[in-house]
Amino acid sequence: MPNELPPITHIYAGNPLDRGDQERRDEGWLRDRALDATSKFLPLWENTVLVTNTPDHDLGWIGLDDVQRLGIEVEGIFLGLRDGAAHFTVDITRNQPASEALRTDEAWSFEDTRGVTDLISLADSGIVAQARAQVNWHNRHGYCAVCGHPTEMRRGGHMRFCTNCNTQHFPRTDPVVITVVADGDRCLLGQSRGRLQAMNRYSALAGFMDQGESIEEAVAREIKEESGIQVKNVRYHSSQPWPFPSTLMIGCHADAATTEIHMDTGEMSDVRWFTREDVASAMAGTNENLALPGPIAIAHHLIKAWVTGEV
Ligand SMILES: [Zn+2]
Repeated sequence: MPNELPPITHIYAGNPLDRGDQERRDEGWLRDRALDATSKFLPLWENTVLVTNTPDHDLGWIGLDDVQRLGIEVEGIFLGLRDGAAHFTVDITRNQPASEALRTDEAWSFEDTRGVTDLISLADSGIVAQARAQVNWHNRHGYCAVCGHPTEMRRGGHMRFCTNCNTQHFPRTDPVVITVVADGDRCLLGQSRGRLQAMNRYSALAGFMDQGESIEEAVAREIKEESGIQVKNVRYHSSQPWPFPSTLMIGCHADAATTEIHMDTGEMSDVRWFTREDVASAMAGTNENLALPGPIAIAHHLIKAWVTGEV
């Protein structure tokens, strides 16, 4: 029986694969699966993922015959099991013949890992998130942070091991708190400097959690830093993996304890209160002065939950 998904499952969550924690500890099993005709392999090329050119756009799983025909090296990033079959991802960015062969094959296309979520299912977007974050982590962590020696992939990608100093390195996930702050019938939204200001686009305030900090403390600190507003009654709403490169968005709501804005002009180009009517019309796409994030982003759902009175 698959685990039941939480009531709010965002894009990039909902990965249906069984990550096979026991199986992936067996290096012999992994080697056998990488050479098994029932195994499936998902090619990533630069920041894109292979999909089928069928109307329903499945992920572009290729089989062992294609892996061997195209000379693709299976380095061993094991994503998990489904229906008894092992699923791997393969980064073919540096394998030009293989990427060219797949790019010119009309059966497939490579799609940006962000835009592809418009084409594929929620479950498949979870697999893309896992694959992209894994490939990125391995590409950036080839050397031991303790002694500088090259590290080796272990456990099908869930660890890198330094054979010089025996340090085990585990994949990073960087938590970000993102919060809609309410003051009665208005909510606090902002524009980060340089990114959103040209588009009249506002979003929930967000920032990386610091070390030695709880979620509630991170929310209070980030909101205070960016807007000068003090908050109370911080409530967790839902979370979203965001594989650019390996973030976990922790979505919250909070109430304002103060209301006067003192914006951090270094980080923000604007922060302001918006009325429920403003936000509702922006959600409906009828407010030319305010654009909100689309449904791919957790911010959309946090704002929607507030404007509809769910929270
Ligand atoms: Zn080391």
